[in-house]
Amino acid sequence: MDNKKFETKAIRTQIERTQFLEHSSPLYLTSSFVFEDAEDMRASFAEEKDRNIYSRYSNPNSNEFVEKVCEMEGAEAGFAFASGMAAVFSTLAALLNSGDHILSAGNIFGSTHSLFNNFFPKWNISHSYFPIDDFDVIESLITPNTKLIYAESPTNPGVDVLDLEVLGGIAKKHNLILVIDNCFASPYLQQPMRFGADLVIHSGTKLMDGQGRVLAGITVGSSELIDKVYRFSRITGPALSPFNAWVLSKSLETLAIRVDRHCDNALKVAEFLESHEKVNWVKYPFLKSHPKYEIAKKQMKAGGCVVAFELKGGLKAGQKFFDSIKLLSLSANLGDSRSIVTHPASTTHSKLTKEERLASGITDGMVRISVGLEHSDDIIADIQQALP
Ligand SMILES: *Cc1c(COP(=O)(O)O)cnc(C)c1O
Repeated sequence: MDNKKFETKAIRTQIERTQFLEHSSPLYLTSSFVFEDAEDMRASFAEEKDRNIYSRYSNPNSNEFVEKVCEMEGAEAGFAFASGMAAVFSTLAALLNSGDHILSAGNIFGSTHSLFNNFFPKWNISHSYFPIDDFDVIESLITPNTKLIYAESPTNPGVDVLDLEVLGGIAKKHNLILVIDNCFASPYLQQPMRFGADLVIHSGTKLMDGQGRVLAGITVGSSELIDKVYRFSRITGPALSPFNAWVLSKSLETLAIRVDRHCDNALKVAEFLESHEKVNWVKYPFLKSHPKYEIAKKQMKAGGCVVAFELKGGLKAGQKFFDSIKLLSLSANLGDSRSIVTHPASTTHSKLTKEERLASGITDGMVRISVGLEHSDDIIADIQQALP
């Protein structure tokens, strides 16, 4: 599908039809596949044939989902996982050895942070964090054991933007693998491999599903690296369920149109908040006031669905705001058709010290809104009535 546009690939990338000539891909809810005879089975297990054997290894629905994301990201190959964190863990575990060092952006998803801090040290895999607004120090943190650079852009929950081209250049110069968690942008808004990423990870749970139904994850990249991820994962078993893969592949057909509307609504919410007297600051990649606005414009098609802002009055004002919200959901997800508000300081990041929170850009009064697909007038009206 090389000569087709994003939307067309998202809809027309489809597994082979069965003898029933169904229009829409069927659900292959099967754990295993059968063989013609002993020789067929032997050759299949010897990988002389490219075919499905067992759904822990591959399944037609997962294959369709993977193929679509590869088309969208400009990647050669991929593997689908049961969750975004299964993708993060399995990808890094497949590539790293005892003694290796990860150079990671300081502002990363909470569970990824915990994986690096609390679990990888068990296998003697160490890490350093680089500050996201001082790229000059990155190279000084590279050690002889550094194997890969890990980052997200935009970041969760601070909606900071990292220059992917600069990261790609550093990775190339030092022969490191650049892994980008592209969850906040979705493949529709940003394709990190264009800027030098070797592997791209997504939580399919967010914008890809877009309707808050299934957990999923995916990693795509070069055939060489993905082969290592595949070898590790077919043994350790983090595979995506065929049902969830089927749901997701359908969701991707509407990704472009949904994300366009998410971005339109989010920009309106961001502009409204920026003009409100009870708000200290607003962060949204496509607001001119965002410190990395020019970089966001360079690497993203639009600003995404998440807006962060700080209420005047800190924690107390935050809690009052939450108690007054009526339409928007108080929930931990994002990228859903329903708008969601979260207060990181009292919830997702409450286990960190205040200093650790501030280092990740999380102040007491900071609120994160994942702007959904309700009418923007209704979303803004709810936020307005809840502002103290
Ligand atoms: C949600 C999220 C993940 C983890 O995905 P799950 O599907 O919840 O396991 C990883 N990275 C980012 C940026 C996320 O927002």
